[in-house]
Amino acid sequence: MNAPVAAMGCTNTPVLKERGQREVFCGLTGIIWLHRKMQDAFFLVVGSRTCAHLLQSAAGVMIFAEPRFGTAILEEKDLAGLADAQTELDREVDRLLSRRPDIRQLFLVGSCPSEVIKLDLHRAAERLSVKHAPHVRVLNYSGSGIETTFTQGEDACLASMVPTLGATAEKELLLVGALPDVVEDQAMGLLAALGIPKVRCLPARRSTDALAIGPNTVFALLQPFLGDTHAALTRRGARHIPAPFPFGAEGTTLWLQAIATEFGVDPALFAKVTAAPRARARKAIAASAQTLSGKSIFFFPDSQLEIPLARFLTRECGMTAIEVGTPFLHRDLLSPDLALLAYGPTISEGQDVDKQLTRARAARADLTVCGLGLANPLEAEGMATKWAIELVFTPVHFYEQAGDLAALFARPLRRRALLAPLAPRIEAAE
Ligand code: SF4
Repeated sequence: MNAPVAAMGCTNTPVLKERGQREVFCGLTGIIWLHRKMQDAFFLVVGSRTCAHLLQSAAGVMIFAEPRFGTAILEEKDLAGLADAQTELDREVDRLLSRRPDIRQLFLVGSCPSEVIKLDLHRAAERLSVKHAPHVRVLNYSGSGIETTFTQGEDACLASMVPTLGATAEKELLLVGALPDVVEDQAMGLLAALGIPKVRCLPARRSTDALAIGPNTVFALLQPFLGDTHAALTRRGARHIPAPFPFGAEGTTLWLQAIATEFGVDPALFAKVTAAPRARARKAIAASAQTLSGKSIFFFPDSQLEIPLARFLTRECGMTAIEVGTPFLHRDLLSPDLALLAYGPTISEGQDVDKQLTRARAARADLTVCGLGLANPLEAEGMATKWAIELVFTPVHFYEQAGDLAALFARPLRRRALLAPLAPRIEAAE
C-alpha cells in the first residue's frame, strides 16, 4: 500500500452496496432512551398492538409510575378506513393531556400501520399544537420499520424539533444526540474546563431549557446516525464541526480537539485538561485490549455506530476488521472516522442478509456484531457474537466510559474462553 492510500484509510474503499432483506429493529426503539432523556415529553405511538408490544418488551420493567410513552392503537375499523382516525386521535390526545399536565412536548410517532393508511400526523400535530398552545407543543415523526433501522427514530425525533427552535446570532456550541445525563455532564465538564463559553444540548432535558440556533451556531454530533438532524441544522444556518466520534481515548481527544480548534483554545490548556482523563481511559482500555488484541471482528449493519466502533477497536484495542457493515453511510458525518480506519476491511452499506450471512460464516471472525435475531443462530454455530443494540443502551461515550466500551466487546470472548473446557462435556450430556 502506498503512503497516501494509507493516510486516507478507508476513505476511498469501494463500498459494497446491498439492497435485500434486512434484519433490524424499527425506529420506535429510540423511544426507550429518548423518553428517559426528555423529562417533560411524551411519545404517543400511533400504531398497532404489535408496536405496543415492541415498546413494552423493549422497555422491560416500567420504572415510572406515569410512563412517558404510550400507544394509540389503530383498530381494524381505523385500518379499514371506516372511522375518522384524525377525530379519534384528537380525542386520545385531549384525554392524555387533561390527565397529564406535566407533559410539555408531545410527539405523535408514526408507525407502519399509520403510514399504510396514510394517516397525516403532520397535519394532526399542527392542529393539536394550535389547540394546546402555549402549554404543550405537538410534533410528529416516523418510527416506522419500513426501510429503516432502529437508531433512525432518534434522528427523526431530533430533526422534527429543529424547525421549532428559536433564533440567535450568538456564537454557541450545540451538542447533538441523546446521552445519559451522567455522560452529558462529563462532556459539559470537559468543555467548561476548556473555557468553551456557551454549550447547549439537543435534546434538552426539559422544554424550558430554550434552545436557539442561527448562522453563528456550531454543532458537534454525539452519534453517527443523525444525518437528517445534521441536514435540518445546516438548513437553519448552523455549521457542523466534523470530527471522529467520541468513542475511546483517541476518538474523544480528536472530538474535543476539533471543538477546541474552532474556539481557539490554547493547546497547553487542552493538554492540561485532557491529560488525566485520557490516561485513565487508556489504562481502562488496556485491561480489555489484552483479550481483544489480535482478534478479528465482523459487523452486520445495525446501529449505524459500526464505522466509529471499528475505528476504535482496530486502533485502540488491536483488533482486525474483516467487514464493517452499516445501514447507511453518511459521508458528511463519517469521513473523519473512515480516514482513520486502516485500509483493508470490506465496507458494506445496506443489507442482503443471506449474502452477508454467507460471508460471515466464511470469515468466521472471532467476534460478530449483529442484531438479536442473528446472534442466537450464529452462537449455535459456534460463533461469538455481540448484540449491536447494547451499544446504544449502554453509556459508551467519552473518556470515562472508554474502558466499559472495550469491555463490552471483550466479555463475549472471555465467556467463550471460560466455557471452552466445558464444551465436550455439554455435548456429551446432550
Ligand atoms: S412500527 Fe412497524 S416494524 Fe415497528 S413495531 Fe410497529 S408494525 Fe412493527
